[in-house]
Amino acid sequence: MPSCLVDNHHRRIDYLRLSITDRCNLRCIYCMPEDGMPKLSHDEIMTYEEMLRLVELATQMGISKIRVTGGEPLVRKGVLYLCRKIAEFESVKSLSITTNGLLLADYAEGLLAAGIKRINVSLDTLKPEKYARITRRDCYHKVWHGLERALALGFQPVKLNVVVMKGWNDDEIEDLARLTYRYPFHVRFIEFMPFSSVDQASKYLSSDDVLQRLVKMAPLVPAKVNNGNGPARHYKFPGAVGKIGLISPISHHFCPTCNRLRVTADGKLRTCLFSREETDLRDLLRRRAADEDIVAVIRRAIDRKPERHTLESEVFRKCIGRPMVAIGG
Ligand code: SAM
Ligand code: SF4
Repeated sequence: MPSCLVDNHHRRIDYLRLSITDRCNLRCIYCMPEDGMPKLSHDEIMTYEEMLRLVELATQMGISKIRVTGGEPLVRKGVLYLCRKIAEFESVKSLSITTNGLLLADYAEGLLAAGIKRINVSLDTLKPEKYARITRRDCYHKVWHGLERALALGFQPVKLNVVVMKGWNDDEIEDLARLTYRYPFHVRFIEFMPFSSVDQASKYLSSDDVLQRLVKMAPLVPAKVNNGNGPARHYKFPGAVGKIGLISPISHHFCPTCNRLRVTADGKLRTCLFSREETDLRDLLRRRAADEDIVAVIRRAIDRKPERHTLESEVFRKCIGRPMVAIGG
């Protein structure tokens, strides 16, 4: 019987973001250097068996929502096998994936069959040339094709993750929002976070600035979403079929309701995206530690989960820790 996992700040922890690879087939300017990152070796990356044992223990502790991420999760061989096995855990009530969408057209059917119904696709622009500049790969149409396939197959919801950057894609905020009139997308505008070497101060645009732009288009009304205890504020244009989300990790930090844990592809548990503290679980798994010992280590890490991040003080000065590609967004 799964228990209820509560941290020292009375937050219920029920969500695990599991990064299954540090590899990626794009080089987004806000996430990866042009030449890529030093790669983890094959041995450093957790096997699927190790991941599944961790997921099983986490579900016994009270985790009921799992998001598979990366790097780009669809580049890892056997990803459908892993998803299917995770979905088989009775305590997993929600299984989702975050992908850049490049391989989505090929994988969408398999993902659905494996038990994934919720999908987040990163797309920062509707202009193919700009897409190539932001991701450093010329493959906008492949992503769009993947999105069409996901809609046709009935994924619910299909969320678009848009990282807003001044001077790069802020001229498209309205066009991206307008997609919700035509498609049942949930378009989520995400504040640019200081993980990359891109000059943060000149590129950052707050969610409130985005909101001000959106309300000039049409009256926005608050929207309800299923599974909606995440960090986004949700809205809808009257008559639109899709929704709009604002995710403000910098300007309106969502720490008081943070319900998540992250595990990196090399098996490090992170209880806060913005903390440098990591707890090595892979080593315990490889030493064949007893279930109760692994659970105790996870519990102690959760006990140290910070009450809140202090990123706003750091944000315009330097980027922190590992980039998103190595943590798992
Ligand atoms: N490769 C997949 C993708 O791009 O969707 C999954 C991993 S990616 C690290 C997860 C999410 O993190 C993406 O939506 C991406 O846009 C977001 N992300 C990466 N770097 C970011 C940054 N510096 N600020 C805000 N969001 C970022
Ligand atoms: Fe790859 Fe996703 Fe990072 Fe882009 S945001 S470089 S697609 S991991």
